[in-house]
Parts: sequence; C-alpha cells; structure tokens
Amino acid sequence: MKVPFLDLRAQHDPLRGEIMASIQEVIDQSAFAGGPFVAKFEEDFAAYGQTRFAIGVGNGTDALWLALLGLGIGPGDEVITVPSTFMATAEAISYCGAKPVFVDVDERTFTLNPALLERAITSRTKAIIPVHLFGQMADMDPIMEIAQRHHLQVIEDACQAHGAEYKGRKAGSIGIAGCFSFYPGKNLGAWGEGGAVVTNDSTLCQKIRVLRDHGQNKKYYHSDIGWNGRMDGIQGAVLRIKLKGLDRGNAARRAHARVYDERLAGLPGLIVTPPAAYGVPVYHIYAVRVTERDRVLQGLTERGIGCGIHYPIPIHLQQAYRSLGLGVGSFPVAERCANEFLSLPMFPELTPVQIDTVVREVKSSVSALPALSLVEGAPVASLA
Ligand SMILES: *Cc1c(COP(=O)(O)O)cnc(C)c1O
Repeated sequence: MKVPFLDLRAQHDPLRGEIMASIQEVIDQSAFAGGPFVAKFEEDFAAYGQTRFAIGVGNGTDALWLALLGLGIGPGDEVITVPSTFMATAEAISYCGAKPVFVDVDERTFTLNPALLERAITSRTKAIIPVHLFGQMADMDPIMEIAQRHHLQVIEDACQAHGAEYKGRKAGSIGIAGCFSFYPGKNLGAWGEGGAVVTNDSTLCQKIRVLRDHGQNKKYYHSDIGWNGRMDGIQGAVLRIKLKGLDRGNAARRAHARVYDERLAGLPGLIVTPPAAYGVPVYHIYAVRVTERDRVLQGLTERGIGCGIHYPIPIHLQQAYRSLGLGVGSFPVAERCANEFLSLPMFPELTPVQIDTVVREVKSSVSALPALSLVEGAPVASLA
C-alpha cells in the first residue's frame, strides 16, 4: 500500500461544490485583484488569529518582506533569525537590504534558542524573526523579553503555524507582526499562491496596505515606492471557505502525531520529539530524526511511503549565502538536524490504515540502525 506525503485531493473533494460556487461569485463580480473577497477573508483571518488586522498579500515571502519594509528595515540593518527554516525567511531580510544574522535552534523544539539570542544582538540589530517551524511555536516569552529590553521588533514567521498556540495565544499575535503563507500545501492552503501579515498596530497595517498596492494611498497617487503584492480575489474566496475547516484539520494532525509519537518512541536509530508543554502545535510537518537518513528515506520511498526532508541544508550553508562566510560548525544543532530530519506523511485526511503502514515501514527500515542520542539530552518536559 502506498501512502502519499500529502493528499490535497482528499482535502478538496468534499469542499469542491462550495468553493466552486464561491469562485463563480468572484467571476460574476470580476473581483480578481484584491477587492471585496480578499477584504472579507482578511476580516475572518484577523478574528481567527486574535489580531486587529490582517493584510492579504501575494505569498508568504511577500508577507515577510512587506512586514520588514513596513517597519522601515533596510540597508545597514541586521535581522536575527534561525538557520533551520525555509529559504524565504532569509531572502525577505536580504531583499529589503538588511543582513540576516543567525542564531542556532533549541533541539527540543527546533525553534530559535532564546539562550543564544542576546549574544547575536549588535548595535545594528533592528528585528528578530523567530520561525514556528513544523507548526510548533518558538518559546516566545524569553524572546519578547530580550527584544523589549533591546528595543527590537519581533516578526513571527508563522508560515507553518496557522492556528498554533503559545500559552493560549495564537501564532502571529505576539510580535508586532505575524506572517503567513497560503501556499497550497500549508495547513491553510489556497488554490494558488497567497499570504498575509497580521498585526495589532494600525500604523504598520496602513503602511503595509499601501506598500502592497504600489505605494498608493489613493488610485494613482503614490506616497511611497511600493510593489504589487496584492492577493487574488479567487484566493480570498477559497481561503475564506477553507479557514472554517482549519481547526478541525489541525486537531486531526495532532491526533495523527500522537499516534506516531507513541508508536515510534524508543526505536534505537530514531528520535521522536514530543511537543513543548507551553503550546499547542499544528504539525505542518511531522519530522523524526534518524541516523543514515538518506538511506532510510530511499528505502521508504521505494516501499511507497511519501517522505520529505525539511530542510536538507541549513540556510547559512546554502550557496546563496556563501558570502556570509559561515562554515560548517557555525550552528551545530541546525546542522545536525538537517542531516537527521525525516518528514513522514502528515495531513488531516490520513487514515488509520495509512498510519499503520507508515509505522510498520519506518520500524522495519530503522531496525538495524545504530542508536541515536540527543545533542544536549534535556527532556522536553522541562520547558515551562
Ligand atoms: C512556506 C514558507 C515561507 C514562504 O511562503 P511562500 O508562500 O511560499 O512564499 C516562509 N517561511 C516559512 C517557514 C515557510 O514554510
């Protein structure tokens, strides 16, 4: 039996009628670029995420870039983030002219390690972008405390964390801005590309609204040099319908993760990482760590189990960032995770039979592997 890594068809089949009807409305009103369907989605998404405002944009990379531009970050500035992320986080920093500065991740959460944050701050630092990797939020309390003490802005990269919580607060609602991607495979995915910035700050909201629309505050009156970063009307309509199912999908992902956690725990060549006690994760990705990862991945792929690697090369070792001069050994936890991470099939519609199949195949592929232990070995339960 084959198990796909992701099955969007299974997610969309039951919604097809409702979504098609809503796309018809967009066509009837010719509301294709921005417009009322985007505005309604913005209202719903802000309410869902416990923020005052949401600004729909073209994709998650635009969301990060426009948030940085909206905060006035540019050449000469430094922005701190993690090397364990998708390239877009660092690209957004570079594309507004600033320099990405990396801080290693905590191996209990795979997110920014607050204990290493302060030493990366310089007189040029303007902002910090914690990444809620795989749908688990970074440890936001110490990050916010350090940021406030140094007068730095915090932008949450919540592109993998739609609906995740930290001590009862929603992803994106804690920093000055939260950035989301609606790439089709994300927990909330469009029928195309999409993204959003959420914020409680009305000045920043206004600034980003102007920037995403060619810097115009009135048609053909340009107060700023902006960009075309608008969301499509059709995506607004699709996302508004899919948002209603987000909590249900996230709960299903958590239930699947619990089964994986229980049934894969204690295997010698594999580490499962239970969620931090401080929050509610949404498992955009379900990743385990294995020795001889590439061999395990190849074996699983040959047996029809759809797997992935998120991500094989940490950002500081990407060819695109060789000019930063950061070699192997700069961020040991991120580097080791990149060599060991293996993402297993994870989507709300996974069936018990599919999960059984994945568990059985993973167990047989890792049975002969040498044991793997944590770098630091601190138990996750110790996180407040
Ligand atoms: C998906 C993603 C992005 C970029 O979103 P796009 O919509 O693909 O531009 C940024 N950061 C992280 C962590 C992501 O997973």
